[in-house]
Amino acid sequence: MKKIAILGNGQLAAMMHEVSAKLNLETTDFPLPEIKADGSCTESEISHWVEKLKNFDVVTYEIENIPVALLKEVNKSVPVYPAISALETAQDRLAEKQAFTKLGIKTNQFMTVDSKSDLQKTAHDFGFPFIIKTRRFGYDGKGQYVLKSKQDIELAWNELGEHALLAESFVPFDYEVSQIAARSVVGDIVFYPLVRNEHREGILRETHVLDFPEALTEQAQQSIQKVLTHFDYVGTLAIEFFVKDNVLYVNEMAPRVHNSGHWSIDGAKTSQFENHLRGVAGQKLGATTVTSNHVMMINLIGEDVTDDRLESFNNVYLKSYGKSVRANRKMGHINIVSNSETEFKNTVDKVYALIEAEACL
Ligand code: AMP
Repeated sequence: MKKIAILGNGQLAAMMHEVSAKLNLETTDFPLPEIKADGSCTESEISHWVEKLKNFDVVTYEIENIPVALLKEVNKSVPVYPAISALETAQDRLAEKQAFTKLGIKTNQFMTVDSKSDLQKTAHDFGFPFIIKTRRFGYDGKGQYVLKSKQDIELAWNELGEHALLAESFVPFDYEVSQIAARSVVGDIVFYPLVRNEHREGILRETHVLDFPEALTEQAQQSIQKVLTHFDYVGTLAIEFFVKDNVLYVNEMAPRVHNSGHWSIDGAKTSQFENHLRGVAGQKLGATTVTSNHVMMINLIGEDVTDDRLESFNNVYLKSYGKSVRANRKMGHINIVSNSETEFKNTVDKVYALIEAEACL
């Protein structure tokens, strides 16, 4: 039985555990190493982890803020998947945008910002609105500022000026999508369908499995294939895009299983978690076929739903992550699947009614 270490012990690791036994794998998750404010860790911390992980067959991760130096040391004795170079690129928004550009994947305009006068230059070049983001350690819309007018330059600089920053042109997108795919050790690739994502306050709220124009699907698959091949990637990868006038503009990638793929647990033949583990363990990947006509996921943000009635609904799958409630925290998700459009719509309404009723308690 292969032993897989997962760095990070949140809900993503937990959802990998759920499929490990059927794949004849033993998964163990670990809390994050001690990380310094600059994102690195001490030599002794690195040695401690090299020792701790040396008896595993493979090391993988469920979170992006892991010091690359640590993984490189671990990788000398145990293979680390997905590729450390993919993680290193994803950790820095500038490196990420440069990699996409080099691979010929369309992105919005971007430039680095090191001073207030760079912000003035960006305003001149991009026009308002534009957005600045910390190059590192941003997630769920944190470390971002949308500049709408000249007055915002001072405010944005006061808020984020101490960080290394990237400015991006604002995309007045029609909607947002993500593409998830998995690649095996021998280079086979399976694609999940393109999905539509609804964010609020920078946090994913809903994912919908829908039909898209073929040109969009093709563009998304070609893009992710380029990234997977470029990094000799193994495991599950997610790429988020903006869609404007039926053209995709890449936003960012996540070299791991992704929130917008949680629907696959109940809506696809093989989930993104199973395919991630299959990939990193050197197994053949499973089919990604969607198993219902209508599939969506609702994220539970800052509130749990404990109402037993939810369990009695047909085709509703609640996963609660068992975390203590905190504002804007991902507490769980609900997958809704159905072959009938009417049943699907009714169920979505009923589920939202319960979520809202519980939020009012
Ligand atoms: P991110 O952390 O980069 O994924 O950003 C979180 C969310 O903010 C995205 O899902 C979008 O809804 C929005 N956003 C980020 N960058 C841009 C942009 N350049 N133009 C328009 N909206 C953006």
